[in-house]
Amino acid sequence: MKDANTFETVKAGFTEYLVKNQYRRTPERYAILEHINAIDGHFTAEMLFKTMQNNFRVSLASVYNSLDLLIKMGLIIRHQFGNNPAEYERTFRTIIHHHLVCSNCGKIKEFTDKNLKTTIEAKKFNNFLPHHFSLCIYGYCNKCKHLI
Ligand SMILES: [Zn+2]
Ligand SMILES: [Zn+2]
Repeated sequence: MKDANTFETVKAGFTEYLVKNQYRRTPERYAILEHINAIDGHFTAEMLFKTMQNNFRVSLASVYNSLDLLIKMGLIIRHQFGNNPAEYERTFRTIIHHHLVCSNCGKIKEFTDKNLKTTIEAKKFNNFLPHHFSLCIYGYCNKCKHLI
């Protein structure tokens, strides 16, 4: 698991992946990676697209394409919480955390747990190479629990 990576290491790995898999090393792809590096927490494709508008000309379609590529590289993960638009978050320069997801309003609360982290990191999987993990616990938030 590579959560302790610096951005320079991430960028070097990114370049290596692009070369190895014969993707073009466009300034656009690097700009998207840099913007993601600057966002703390979850973001949607629209949010990323909007924050990029001031500094860089990029289409929403290429934002989506780059997000797909970054998922393949394991640099971001995609969450789909209920009917809300997909949320992304980076797997580098982050603390392993989990999510409490309200099934009624879609509200997300994050938490960390040292024991869970140790347990999952020690686990061996057959024919599977893990690069990151994040649990989702579904339930009802304080505002919604009276509805049930
Ligand atoms: Zn999160
Ligand atoms: Zn709720």
